[in-house]
Amino acid sequence: MASIFTKIIQGEIPCELVLQTNSEIAFLDINPSSKGHTLVVPKCEVARLEELPAEDAAALMQTLQRVARAVSRSLDNSDYNIVLNNGTNAGQEVPHVHFHIIPRPAGSSRPFRNKEAYAEGEMSRYGQQIRECLD
Ligand code: AMP
Repeated sequence: MASIFTKIIQGEIPCELVLQTNSEIAFLDINPSSKGHTLVVPKCEVARLEELPAEDAAALMQTLQRVARAVSRSLDNSDYNIVLNNGTNAGQEVPHVHFHIIPRPAGSSRPFRNKEAYAEGEMSRYGQQIRECLD
């Protein structure tokens, strides 16, 4: 079944459109974390970032940068977070990969402050495991 974002891309569901290109759509999040919260979605419907073909990922990054610049400019050069929830344990609700651009005007609370310390020697093990999994 088509994702809700594919339905938006196909015009079956309305959205507050920011930009449409050949390969992406950007629109305002209907339940924003802050005003101006914008989603940037590739038209290629895959659930996870690593499933996106490399050309689509490269195009997505260009559009993300372009839209993020506009979001910031439109809000007096606001700071912002870019978030991608990849998988349900990461908080992903819509199984169609997308970036969130979340404006952080002055006075916003600081996100991502949870920390998890490494035990002795653990950091190098994590680094080694990740390096071994590179394509
Ligand atoms: P995530 O949890 O990363 O999958 O984020 C999904 C986001 O999509 C949430 O922030 C929702 O508010 C947003 N969303 C869901 N349906 C719509 C819609 N029809 N139009 C705009 N944003 C939506």
